[in-house]
Amino acid sequence: RDPFCSEVKPRILLMGLRRSGKSSIQKVVFHKMSPNETLFLESTNKICREDVSNSSFVSFQIWDFPGQIDFFDPTFDYEMIFRGTGALIFVIDSQDDYVEALSRLHLTVTRAYKVNPDINFEVFIHKVDGLSDDHKIEKQRDIHKRANDDLADAGLERIHLSFYLTSIYDHSIFEAFSKVVQKLIPQLPTLENLLNIFISNSGIEKAFLFDVVSKIYIATDSSPVDMQTYELCCDMIDVVIDISCIYGLSEDVAGSPYDKESMAIIHLNNTTVMYLKEVTKFLALVCFLREESFERKGLIDYNFHCFKKAIEEVFDLRLKVQRNRKLLSQR
Ligand code: GDP
Repeated sequence: RDPFCSEVKPRILLMGLRRSGKSSIQKVVFHKMSPNETLFLESTNKICREDVSNSSFVSFQIWDFPGQIDFFDPTFDYEMIFRGTGALIFVIDSQDDYVEALSRLHLTVTRAYKVNPDINFEVFIHKVDGLSDDHKIEKQRDIHKRANDDLADAGLERIHLSFYLTSIYDHSIFEAFSKVVQKLIPQLPTLENLLNIFISNSGIEKAFLFDVVSKIYIATDSSPVDMQTYELCCDMIDVVIDISCIYGLSEDVAGSPYDKESMAIIHLNNTTVMYLKEVTKFLALVCFLREESFERKGLIDYNFHCFKKAIEEVFDLRLKVQRNRKLLSQR
């Protein structure tokens, strides 16, 4: 029994003008494509490109603009889609003229808000790899101001937009995605708390809970995150999956490179140990600790066992509450 059924998955919609970078983001974050390969991605003309991933903690869809989505087309049930959406990511190409993108953003956000005021609106100011630091800040300020002015002119100041500077050429896209996903997890404070208890009882310095496929971290303990640590975790997950794909799968059984047995230990050259272990079908725990602390691996594994059980209960409980609510509303 897997507590992570579709009901608890955060649902995300990725929108933006054609060529703003949506497919590239999807391929890089969810399909391990290297950023350079996205140069050869073909643009598709489908109305709605759907990718409800079976392999990730997150499920999401991509919509293209302009032209393809006509909010006045009666056959296109955008209301239903907005209703089931937790976050709407709007991608703006920062290397291009963004007047058209801003007007699309405004139209989309106002429509979506009418249908579902609980959606989180997340704006990715994308392809910032080509910009200097000063330029980045300036672009962000300008886009932020114009988008909010448009909302104020329409009397919709209460709509909140969050902004992120992103690029597929570094970890900024993963970091932004992590923040977007974390906002959609109501159990986040509980997860943080469990991680805090786990690390303080085990002599661990830092721990992340990762969605393995996307390398989005869905929670971490309350000590600050530094980018280098996060990048090391991403590299470790890549190494584990690559090695498993090459040497871990038997040829006759169609298996997954990530399963219940998945775990890895890496000793770095500065007396730090990285420890990765499977938590659920989609999630892995990645920890940083000193070599001395790792000598008590038995204790760590026992604490991990308790942690894993608690995580399962947290998500299972939520599911039960949802089911009961559904039953009640059907009566
Ligand atoms: P879509 O139509 O919105 O799905 O856009 P695509 O994903 O097809 O991307 C259009 C182009 O933008 C491709 O050539 C990508 O290589 C490029 N691109 C996407 N993301 C980035 C980025 O972060 N930085 C840069 N420099 N180029 C990007």
